[in-house]
Amino acid sequence: VLVMDVCDTEILDTTKTISDFINDKIKERHSVDSEVPFHVANLDDLHQKHIRWLRTLPRVKPFYAVKCNSTPAVIRMLSTLGTGFDCASKGEIELVLSLGVTPEKIIYAHTTKPQSHIKYASTHGVDMMTFDCEEELLKISACHTRAKLVLRIAVDDSKSATRLSQKFGTKLSVVKKLLERCKELDLEVIGVSFHVGSGCTDSLAYKQAIEDARHVFDTAVLLGFQMRLLDIGGGFPGNEGFQIQFDEFSKVINEALDEFFPADSGVQVIAEPGQYYVGSAFTLAVNVFAKKVVMDDNDRVMMYYITDGVFGSLNFLISYPAHINVAPYLHRVVESGEKRYRSIIWGPTCDSLDRVTANYWMPEVQVGDWLLIDNMGAYTVCCSSDFNGFDKADIYPVLSAQTWNMFNFQIYNPNGTMGHCSRASKVLKKCIV
Ligand code: PLP
Repeated sequence: VLVMDVCDTEILDTTKTISDFINDKIKERHSVDSEVPFHVANLDDLHQKHIRWLRTLPRVKPFYAVKCNSTPAVIRMLSTLGTGFDCASKGEIELVLSLGVTPEKIIYAHTTKPQSHIKYASTHGVDMMTFDCEEELLKISACHTRAKLVLRIAVDDSKSATRLSQKFGTKLSVVKKLLERCKELDLEVIGVSFHVGSGCTDSLAYKQAIEDARHVFDTAVLLGFQMRLLDIGGGFPGNEGFQIQFDEFSKVINEALDEFFPADSGVQVIAEPGQYYVGSAFTLAVNVFAKKVVMDDNDRVMMYYITDGVFGSLNFLISYPAHINVAPYLHRVVESGEKRYRSIIWGPTCDSLDRVTANYWMPEVQVGDWLLIDNMGAYTVCCSSDFNGFDKADIYPVLSAQTWNMFNFQIYNPNGTMGHCSRASKVLKKCIV
C-alpha cells in the first residue's frame, strides 16, 4: 500500500477490495479500543461518474459544487479528471486554489457574497461570479471591476425536495431592469445560471429553465452584452441507482440545449453538480456502543446507539429529510434466516432529535459491532459537528492500483485511448510521499 500525503489517499493493491480495507480499519480500531466512526471515500467511483457525465452530457462542462463535500482528496481527484469548481465562499476558493486549481476553473456561484470575499476573489483572479440583485452589483462594482457576471434566475422548483429559488434568483419580470443597471455600472454580464433545486423529480424543470435562460440571453444581447455562458446548476442524482434518473434528466437537457442553445451558438454550457459526483462514493462505518431491548406489546424492539448521528455525518436527516434513504447494514456476516427485529437507531448525543432510524428491520446487533451505511458522500461530512464532544468521523480516501496506474503512467483520456505522461499524473504525483 502506497500512502499519499495531505490527502491521505491509499492506493489499494490489486488483491485488495474496499471491503478488505474496511475490515482492516475496523480491526485497527478494535486493537486500540476506538469506536470513532469513519468514512471510506472510493475515488474510483468519482472516476466512473465522470466518465458517465462526459458520455451522457457531452456539451456540459461540470464545475463540481465544493459545498457538497470539500474533502481535499475529492477536490484533487476531480481536478485531475479536469472538472471546474463551483465555490460558495472565500474559504472554498482558498481551499481549491491551495490544491493547485487555477482561478479560471472556478465560478464563485453564490449570489449573496460578503464584501471581503468578493475582494479575495478579485485579488486571486477569480472573475466569474453570480448575482441576482442590485445591491450585489453595487458591492461587486466597488470591489471587483473585472468581474464576469452570471445572472442567476429563479426557476420553477416546485417539484424539488430542496427549493433554492425561494432564496436565490431574479424573477424574469425584473431581469431587464437589473441588466440595465449593470450597463449603468459598466459591469460585464457574460451569462445566465439557475438551479432547479436538489432532489428534483421532474426532468422538464430543466427544459423550462433552459427556455427561460434563452429569453434572458435575448434581452441581454439586445442591451449589448456579449452573452457566452449558460450554467445549468446542480440537482443531478448521485446515489446508488442514480443512472435511470440521470439519463432521463440528460436526455431532456440535451434536447433543450439543441433547441435553445444549439452547438453553433458559441455558448459554453457548464453545470454545478454536487451530489452527482460524491453521493455514492462514501461509505460510513459506525460503532454500536450501547443497546437497550424494550418491549412493544409482545415484540422485542431493539434500540441501538451508534457513534455518528444527525449532529455529525447524518445531519441531512434534519436538513434534507427526503434526501437520502439511510439503510444501515451489519458489517459482520449475516446468516440466512437470521431473525430481524424492529430497530430504532440513535445517534450518540443527549438530544432526542438525534435519531437515525425509527422503524427499521434488521438482524440483532451486539454492543461493539459495526454498521455500514452507503451513499454517504453528499452533504454529510461538510455539515458535521462535534456536538456533545463526540468525534467527527475520520475520512479515508482510497484509489485502486488500476486507476492509480492509469493516471500515473498514461494520459488520461475518457474515450479510452492511452499515451504516456500526463498533466493528470503530475497533479496526482504531488500527493505521493
Ligand atoms: N450550485 C448551487 C448554487 C447550489 O446552491 C447547490 C446546492 O445547494 C449546488 C450547486 C449543488 O447542488 P446538487 O448537490 O444538488 O447538485
